[in-house]
Amino acid sequence: MEKLVITVAVTGSLPTRTKTPYVPITPEEIVAAGVRCEQAGAAVIHVHARNPKDESPSTEFRLFEEICQGLRERTRLIVQISTGGRAGMAYEQRSDRLALRPEMASLTTGSVNFPDTVYANSPELIERLARDMKAYGIKPEMEIFDVSMVRNAVELAERGLADPPLHFDFVLGLKGAIPATIENLVHLKNALPPGSTWTAAGIGAAQLPMNVHALLTGGHVRVGLEDNIYFRKGELAPNERFVERMVRLAAEFGRGVATPDEARRILSLKPPA
Ligand code: ZN
Repeated sequence: MEKLVITVAVTGSLPTRTKTPYVPITPEEIVAAGVRCEQAGAAVIHVHARNPKDESPSTEFRLFEEICQGLRERTRLIVQISTGGRAGMAYEQRSDRLALRPEMASLTTGSVNFPDTVYANSPELIERLARDMKAYGIKPEMEIFDVSMVRNAVELAERGLADPPLHFDFVLGLKGAIPATIENLVHLKNALPPGSTWTAAGIGAAQLPMNVHALLTGGHVRVGLEDNIYFRKGELAPNERFVERMVRLAAEFGRGVATPDEARRILSLKPPA
């Protein structure tokens, strides 16, 4: 089994300071969280930006730029920028940040109902984002909320819009999307083309069981406050504690944890410039 690649999704679009004091909001806080998570054992950081004034999700290029620069200066982490639509659904609002040429970016290959809205990803939008990523040499992480999205991602590769081996992130347990069961995770994993890599993310209390199943079956894991703010029932914790727990569990099961550079090889990334 390959070493475990730990992705940390430190901020996301939803958790606010009133929900948890630990969520990093400003670029400086996000970079500092990245530094601590790298020390704890993370290899990839999944990045959203927030408006520092009111904590709302932001599409502002300058914020993404500040975060990317800080992470590049102070860590070896693989930076994965979200192209998610909570801050703004339009192509223009989701694509300009790709000009920062992060090593990875998320790409959701289908639409799904979020609890409060339709998360709309039209075939045209997906294709345009995929073309941009390919042009910039950015590896997409296919964000999979349902099994049809796996097929859509494979079709992008068949059409030459994404280069195999593909990398997938299964997001299970979000209300409106695929429920977080072991059977569903196995089904998603079995739908992948040979040679693919995959990460499991679970929402809320599903985070730990989905992570552990991935740990045991050769997948990789995503932790962090974007998906889950509770370390255990009623107990909030900072991002790095979630990373530390996965490192401990991996050690218990005899699986090594990948450094950022080992993760670059495992995920078939082009060496950074
Ligand atoms: Zn995200």
